[in-house]
Amino acid sequence: MKKIFKIIFTVIAISIAVFFFRPELEQIFSNLQNKYLPCSRPITYSIGSFDDRFGISKDEFLKVVNTGEVVWEKAIDKELFVYKSDGSGVLKINLIYDTRQEATQKLKDIGITVSDTKASYNDLKLKYNAMQADYLKRKADFESQVVLFQNRQNAYEKEVRYFNENGGALEKDFNRLNKEKLSLDVKFTEINKLQTILNEEVNNINALVIVLNRLVSSLNIEVNKFNTIGSEFSGEFEEGTYKEDSTSREIDIYQFDNIGKLARVLTHELGHALGLLHLENSKSVMYRLNNGVNEKLTIDDILALKKRCELASPF
Ligand SMILES: [Zn+2]
Repeated sequence: MKKIFKIIFTVIAISIAVFFFRPELEQIFSNLQNKYLPCSRPITYSIGSFDDRFGISKDEFLKVVNTGEVVWEKAIDKELFVYKSDGSGVLKINLIYDTRQEATQKLKDIGITVSDTKASYNDLKLKYNAMQADYLKRKADFESQVVLFQNRQNAYEKEVRYFNENGGALEKDFNRLNKEKLSLDVKFTEINKLQTILNEEVNNINALVIVLNRLVSSLNIEVNKFNTIGSEFSGEFEEGTYKEDSTSREIDIYQFDNIGKLARVLTHELGHALGLLHLENSKSVMYRLNNGVNEKLTIDDILALKKRCELASPF
């Protein structure tokens, strides 16, 4: 009797533990499965955090995720990913707005489009130099206008004080001072406008600096490509990252210039989620730099996927 009670109690205790930890257990199991039996079961995914400031709706974003999903699935005619609208997917895809996206958007607004190439970097650097020179010139002009304005304002106030202290001005002085006051008001508005323009220019230059730094870092990696062993998933596709540990799997998207680029980044990160590493072929989706224009797989991408998934079905 006692023994039976003990067994029942243990079963209840285990069920409670499994119930409480089930989401985490599912995650751990799914990660194990992905490691030892890749492609054997589709990876479930959901949207995690989603920032509206990208100007894309959740539905539109999901459509682009689906584009990337289908690219891989078609290659081996197999269901590799399944979307879970209830948020229970083991792979979380996050759209995270940061200064990089803000800066890209800002540059786009002033007609500057960026690509992750040395040519684009050089082009941006020239623009930066030109904007910086223009800014310094405008700033010097602004400062001298402010000094001139202050001198005129002081002279005006001095005269007004003088007439006030000496029983008022004659009509011709009164009219002259009134005219000067109106002229000073106009000048003040002009200076205010100049300041707004200067502030906007500063914002544009700062955006340029952020994008330049991003390019510097991705181009540096190209230069130091022999040192990146052991960190295959970091520091490359700057627009997004894939990370996994024993309890979580996540794709973070930080930045994209257009839907085409977003599709490519997502396809690349989904490739990592499938367990694919970087490829040497610079045309491949799984190349470490996002320098292509579409999400089409190369033969290398397809062979890598086949090799990876064969492990799951050796018969
Ligand atoms: Zn990568």
